[in-house]
Amino acid sequence: MNLSRDFFADIGAKIADKKCFSFAADGKTRDFLANYRWDAEGLQIPTVCNFTDIGTHLNLSAAPNGKTLSDRMVKAILMAKRLRWIPLNHKVKEHIVQANILPAGLYGAEASWVNKSILKALRAAIGNALGPRSARASNDIVFNNTTCSGDLDPDTYILTQRVTSLRRTIAKYPAKRDKVCNIIKQYKDSNNTCASSSNPCGPIGLLINSLEQVGAQLTHDLKITKEGEADIDIWSLPWQHLKKAISEMCANHRVAHASCDRSHLREVGEIDGQITKKIVNGLGPKERCIYNHISTGGAWSESHLQDIGLSQGKCTHCGQVAEDICHVTWHCPIVNKHRKIQDLQNVNPDLLPTYIKHGVPKAMSTDVEATFWGDKHAPDSLQDSKETLRAIGMQVTSQRKTLASCKNQEIKEVHKQNNLNPGTHNARPFFKKIEANKQRAQSAGVRGQRKPSPT
Ligand SMILES: [Zn+2]
Repeated sequence: MNLSRDFFADIGAKIADKKCFSFAADGKTRDFLANYRWDAEGLQIPTVCNFTDIGTHLNLSAAPNGKTLSDRMVKAILMAKRLRWIPLNHKVKEHIVQANILPAGLYGAEASWVNKSILKALRAAIGNALGPRSARASNDIVFNNTTCSGDLDPDTYILTQRVTSLRRTIAKYPAKRDKVCNIIKQYKDSNNTCASSSNPCGPIGLLINSLEQVGAQLTHDLKITKEGEADIDIWSLPWQHLKKAISEMCANHRVAHASCDRSHLREVGEIDGQITKKIVNGLGPKERCIYNHISTGGAWSESHLQDIGLSQGKCTHCGQVAEDICHVTWHCPIVNKHRKIQDLQNVNPDLLPTYIKHGVPKAMSTDVEATFWGDKHAPDSLQDSKETLRAIGMQVTSQRKTLASCKNQEIKEVHKQNNLNPGTHNARPFFKKIEANKQRAQSAGVRGQRKPSPT
């Protein structure tokens, strides 16, 4: 340091104290630099703990700080708030969020601390721009009802970026893999104390922290594990499937959170995302708006309006007492007269769970004797019309009932063979786990050899 100072003096250089700064990760070195005199007149240059570096925020202290990212998110919030009022259709708005707001607002999130309250505000602003204009709407379901290829939830975006940047780093610098595995191992050995706390350190700590927020873990051999889900191998999974697998995991966590939070989604657990996308893609702008209002719980029923003194609690079409929005969508005789699909009138709404009545399809169950969503009805309810039972996935004829019972026995055997729990695994993770177990058995012969990335 002294030699540098002498060298500057010898060549006649002047230290630009307004442009230079010094920094150190160690507290004592930081104090030394802060008190260091750079010339005979006692010139000092500022010593900082964090600063913007190559697009992200480099933080050298133990305190959480991601100011550069926070500033970007604040700008993105303003963009999302403006987007809400711009008269564009849903698809264009989704495209703007995907191509502009998320990349601009969360640039550098891979290696930077994310301010949770600002992120929450960004999530709400994007949800309001894409979802229905109702304070009652669940943003968790708004993000599920989008039609574009990617997930527009900022939480999902950050986790996806962190996972893919780790994969890219290792692909580009293979020697870093051992270092990464070692860091993960150290976090594990210390019971993740650094990553679990509110102050994770470095990109690996931030990734572990993000995964813990969705109930997943990162193993030292670069696999993401989550209870009830097939493992995601960050290194071996084909690149085109990696983002999809992460998005799916985040979406499932989001729906699980919504099902605890919202009464109309009680016990839904997991939504069939593909069916939802197909439904929403087939709707016109007006129908989509109505579907969004109903499925997100944003629609105001007569009962809700009565609570705030704006209604008598009776349906404006038929005059009957309307307890919730399901009266209009399923029970109202006047509305039913105008149905385009008259077959729906044959379905007894009392057999449908609340989430189905709100247009939210629960992921399909593995039980072929139950309804599509896994409800087993008492024998007296089976007296309903055959159309109703067939429509909700129940077996009607005695021949089909016997066949379903036999199939169920086979499924139970597969559950046992693959150590699966029928209570927690629906059809999607059921097939994924079987597939993963098969692949594991096939690759058992070459275990111990490090496979190259399939990219
Ligand atoms: Zn009515």
